[in-house]
Amino acid sequence: MQKPTKSEPSTSSRRVYLFGAGKADGSADLRALLGGKGANLAEMANLGLPVPPGFTITTEVCAAYNAGGRVLPGDLKAEVEAALAEVGRSVGTRFGDASRPLLVSVRSGARASMPGMLDTILNLGLNEETVGGLAAKSGNPRFAYDSYRRFIQMYGNVVLGVEHGVFETILDDHKSLNGHSLDTDLGAEDWQEVVRRYLLAVEEQTNAPFPQNTWEQLWGAIAAVFGSWDNDRAKTYRRLHSIPDSWGTAVNVQAMVFGNLGSTSATGVGFTRNPSTGEREIYGEFLINAQGEDVVAGIRTPQSLTEAAAARTGESFEALMPEAFAELTRVFATLESRYRDMQDVEFTVQEGKLWMLQTRSGKRTAKSSLKIAADLVAEGLIDEEEAVARIDTARLDQLLHPTIDPDAERRVLATGLPASPGAASGEIVFDADEAQALKAQGKEVILVRTETSPEDIHGMHAAAGILTARGGMTSHAAVVARGMGRPCVCGAGALRIDMKAGTMTVAGRTFAKRAVITIDGTKGEVLEGRVKTRQPELSGDFGTIMGWADKARRLGVRANADTPREASQARKFGAEGIGLCRTEHMFFEESRILAMREMICADDEAGRRKALAKMLPMQRSDFEALFEIMAGLPVTIRLLDPPLHEFLPHEEKEAQVVAKSLGVPLAKLQGRVAELAEFNPMLGFRGCRLAVRYPEIAEMQARAIFEAAVNAARKTGRPVIPEVMIPLVAYRAEYDIVRDTIVGTAGAVEAETGAKLDYQIGTMIELPRACLKADEIAGGESGAEFFSFGTNDLTQTCLGLSRDDAAPILTNYAEQAILSTDPFVSIDQDGVGELVRIGTERGRKVKPDLKVGICGEHGGDPASIAFCHATGLDYISCSAFRVPVARLAAAQAAIRAKRGGEDSGTD
Ligand code: PEP
Ligand code: MG
Repeated sequence: MQKPTKSEPSTSSRRVYLFGAGKADGSADLRALLGGKGANLAEMANLGLPVPPGFTITTEVCAAYNAGGRVLPGDLKAEVEAALAEVGRSVGTRFGDASRPLLVSVRSGARASMPGMLDTILNLGLNEETVGGLAAKSGNPRFAYDSYRRFIQMYGNVVLGVEHGVFETILDDHKSLNGHSLDTDLGAEDWQEVVRRYLLAVEEQTNAPFPQNTWEQLWGAIAAVFGSWDNDRAKTYRRLHSIPDSWGTAVNVQAMVFGNLGSTSATGVGFTRNPSTGEREIYGEFLINAQGEDVVAGIRTPQSLTEAAAARTGESFEALMPEAFAELTRVFATLESRYRDMQDVEFTVQEGKLWMLQTRSGKRTAKSSLKIAADLVAEGLIDEEEAVARIDTARLDQLLHPTIDPDAERRVLATGLPASPGAASGEIVFDADEAQALKAQGKEVILVRTETSPEDIHGMHAAAGILTARGGMTSHAAVVARGMGRPCVCGAGALRIDMKAGTMTVAGRTFAKRAVITIDGTKGEVLEGRVKTRQPELSGDFGTIMGWADKARRLGVRANADTPREASQARKFGAEGIGLCRTEHMFFEESRILAMREMICADDEAGRRKALAKMLPMQRSDFEALFEIMAGLPVTIRLLDPPLHEFLPHEEKEAQVVAKSLGVPLAKLQGRVAELAEFNPMLGFRGCRLAVRYPEIAEMQARAIFEAAVNAARKTGRPVIPEVMIPLVAYRAEYDIVRDTIVGTAGAVEAETGAKLDYQIGTMIELPRACLKADEIAGGESGAEFFSFGTNDLTQTCLGLSRDDAAPILTNYAEQAILSTDPFVSIDQDGVGELVRIGTERGRKVKPDLKVGICGEHGGDPASIAFCHATGLDYISCSAFRVPVARLAAAQAAIRAKRGGEDSGTD
């Protein structure tokens, strides 16, 4: 047999880091190496907090394991054995010892938090022998066998691949046979019997007995955790959150503490502040006599940590376990001052003593992230720039989501928990794949499930909202939906979901799949039909943080707006001007499109001028409204750039109307339409090519702009300085021809009105040639006074990839790992970005004060905004709803650059 010649990938010399008993080899700084969970366990131990001892195997081992044919490094064994012996010593037990067995949990923990993505195994170290030892040592055989059956189930599922359902069926059968309804009704003999059947089932399913050797168990679990880094759920999560595949997960092996030792034991999850509202109050849930994942699994309904939040007095953690609660409160204070952020913890109480099992920066709603950041500044824990850096741009959108109109009629079908704010309407679907498929067809869906699991991530992502019948505020559905910014109602217990029949029954009525419902994730209500929604009002914290962001950013933020409504919305969101008014969009309305069609289809100048005369007053009043709303802020108006296919009359009915209006026979018009048809309209007769060939078009538009500027200035008393922008310029000569028309028209308007006009003329830079010849286009007195990069067209022309036909090609490229992001969403920094850099440099070489902006879709994308900051652009322009995100992203880019590129990334 050939020996492997591959050398082992290089790793740092140390593979195992111990923690516990007031000290640790690692610390929070070693997050990349120890993963978030491991680094924070080490940190908590260093802080003297009660952490059960354990050790972390580094992420580098995982990376090497997965890259190197799934082989664990040979010398890892000795390190793990030594570490486990040390852990056993400190708790007075020994791994595999029949009378004093050490039991451990084995948990994953990557550098970035990946909730529910990788698997956990509890109670490892139990077998037919040690279970007896545990029963004797604890004096509690029921507990010992309950722990053992949990271990068999978790290990059987995660490591040996036995379906959960196999175990669930055995347990359900046993319960119904013996008249038990709750797990807590089962005694030691019951669990012993369940264990016996579990072991048989595993043997039957895997053709091998359940491993009794505890070392075999441990290595199996370690390998399974490393392997689970590459399961489909983890891959999907990483793709959605841009987490590199190369990071790997650490493995944490930790001495077990038990929340299922009876009524003085418990397990819980808690937040140092309220993750929904951001209020400074202890928040969370716990279950008495329960273990591990019981709280989040939604099997039993958990109770609140505090009396204030409890449904009934005397049932909270605070009331039932006052000493442990007081200790938890102290731990929370220590954690907040150490991490300077809201923490999300897992804890266990074993016979009255509190143990901390995990801490991490807590996931939160966008609204609460603003409040928490603003409060932390007020409390002196962080500064304003840190507060700005911590807000997740992706989730700021949540604040801008609609809520249910308070005046709308609400027919409430059911209530549940308000798990993630916002409102959404859509068609009911019960299956994640179906949610994804319908979304791809452009449908809005609500994913309705008894409870969700990580397998549903893609469906949750595709859904407009998520509704579950079971589970609490920290259940999978709640945590994931909050993170994704999807409205979510959890634990609506009145719902009866019949997956087989594809129906949901509630309030005595049955809804089939595809029926429309609305969920209100802010109130926790399920409403019948489609209910009217309303735009949100932004809180004071939003304004505070945005104010800090505005102080920190260098880039200007403008909006792409074509209508007075968009312009007003943009102003409300803090836009500092209009960076792109697409004038052709002003003709989409039915009452206006006819004039545009007439203009395009006219076959001589007289015909065109007749149509243009109809367009002039429309344009003038539109521009006037925009200038008034923007009250002296810059407004960039782009001359007509109609890709002709969008405006040509295609249907005979439409053609008839245009023919009549033009006073020509239908057949003649149809001939003209045929003449104008193009194979590739996006590369055809559009942009400045129209104004070059038919100067009367630019003349009409320039007149409308200048007359509107005079009128608006007179009305508002503020000077208007319009920026007239010429689209799709490739040659300086094109620019000069159109510029002459504009300048000539300005002179005429000045003469007619007696007003002195102040204006600028500039170009879109959206063709590669324009980038390369930017110095020529901007050169001299009469050269372009500003550039605005049209990165939509620049991407399409740089890549030679039609922006209208790219989707299936890009999907295929994503599948083949050719591209990780859509270049029409986030700028291709290496290629298209290089053209932007060249264009900016060459333009400024001849005109150092040349104003340079971007108005393609990339202007609202945080990564592209960071690129624009680094490239030295003056402003970005994006759609109105993205303006707040753009302001924040621009500030974060500036803060990061100032700090030397490191990422705050704690939110
Ligand atoms: C662009 O091409 O980036 C641009 C803003 O113009 P449009 O999308 O209207 O072609
Ligand atoms: Mg364009």
